Amino acid sequence: MRRVVIVGGGAIGSAIAYFLTRDSDGERFEVVVVERDFSYGQASSALSASSIRQQFSTAINIRMSLYGIDFLRHLGQTLRVGDEVPEIGLVEPGYLYLASQAGADVLRENHAMQKAHAVHVALLTPDELKARFPWISTEGIALASLGLSGEGWYDGYSLLQAFRRKAVSQGVRYVQAQATGLRRDGRSLTGVQLDDGETLDADVVVNAAGAWAAKVAQWAGIDLPVRGRRRSVFSFSCPQALPGCPLVIDTSGIWLRPEGRQFICGFAPPEDRDHDDAPLEVEYEAFDGFIWPALAERVPAFEAIRMTGAWAGYYEMNLFDHNAILGLHPDCDNLYFANGFSGHGLQQCPAAGRGIAELIRFGEYCSLDLSPVSFARILENRPLLEKNVI
Ligand SMILES: Cc1cc2nc3c(=O)[nH]c(=O)nc-3n(C[C@H](O)[C@H](O)[C@H](O)COP(=O)(O)OP(=O)(O)OC[C@H]3O[C@@H](n4cnc5c(N)ncnc54)[C@H](O)[C@@H]3O)c2cc1C
Repeated sequence: MRRVVIVGGGAIGSAIAYFLTRDSDGERFEVVVVERDFSYGQASSALSASSIRQQFSTAINIRMSLYGIDFLRHLGQTLRVGDEVPEIGLVEPGYLYLASQAGADVLRENHAMQKAHAVHVALLTPDELKARFPWISTEGIALASLGLSGEGWYDGYSLLQAFRRKAVSQGVRYVQAQATGLRRDGRSLTGVQLDDGETLDADVVVNAAGAWAAKVAQWAGIDLPVRGRRRSVFSFSCPQALPGCPLVIDTSGIWLRPEGRQFICGFAPPEDRDHDDAPLEVEYEAFDGFIWPALAERVPAFEAIRMTGAWAGYYEMNLFDHNAILGLHPDCDNLYFANGFSGHGLQQCPAAGRGIAELIRFGEYCSLDLSPVSFARILENRPLLEKNVI
């Protein structure tokens, strides 16, 4: 029985553990997940906006999210443990991308790509937009794109816990410890060292360490271009209801969506202020400085909002091209990477988990070919350009 040690027990590590132990026929694996913090205080999976969209510009991201929504819709049955049926609160009000004149052509190009993959999406003129969402200001909008199904949000922490509980029920062992190094013999790893002095023997190691993955790669002498990039999320209340409100991506780059009876919103700081591994402190000044004014310009009812809370988490940003990095690196025969999801890792965790499990089990992808997001593109300097990055 091959021994697999997964470093990082967030949504990605837990999904891989689940898929590796799901099938009772064929090869069996002894799977240990090393997770330093069982409360997931800093894990992106617990601090996420937990949304899923199909409106990407690349085929691979669309395919991964199509599988993601299918998995989420059936998760209650798939990840049930006995009588315990997990509930992640999935709702599908869609994503609404707003484009100015300058962005309209890109929206049309993306739309063509999405339609080619049977994504349920519609382009709206400003008049159609206003008719559908009377509470929105169409000032400066040339075109909008609305997801009609397969897009929405859910509870990310519950998703992580559902994978984890199911994996444990299938025999996966979670060890609360900090991985501190890798034991290596030639081209292969033979173990994972822990902070308590123990070394877990391993035939296969998986790097699922989220924003901290570059350190794990470094232990194997591999340069992984992934860094933690802080993202602040603000919650706010608004006296006026916005019927049918989807997740809106404004031309300013600010996104917002309902969260229960309230709303949440966020933004990406400009590149020169987007430092690597900044402390997880909320950028409160951004809310009054430009988020609130921009929100109120797009939705006049937001003049009267009140901020009710905020948090900060890390995007595990792939600095090379802002997309996942999956699979082996040519310098090591048994270290698998599942990193760099750059803000779309929760929705991709079912596809990534299944794919990495297939790669370990069969040496190749069987259901969905994830090779477009392999290490090769980085080593060959072929960035995968995703135009719809939030
Ligand atoms: C504000 C925000 C909004 C987001 N919105 C979305 C969204 O709408 N949709 C979407 O799909 N994605 C979104 N994401 C991204 C998504 O949350 C992540 O891509 C995903 O959660 C990554 O999962 P992970 O398991 O790789 O990382 P994590 O959840 O961070 O898990 C990694 C784990 O590894 C552990 N670890 C690290 N190093 C070690 C070590 N040496 N030893 C032991 N344990 C270790 C950590 O403790 C952590 O628990 C968002 C992220 C943020 C921060």
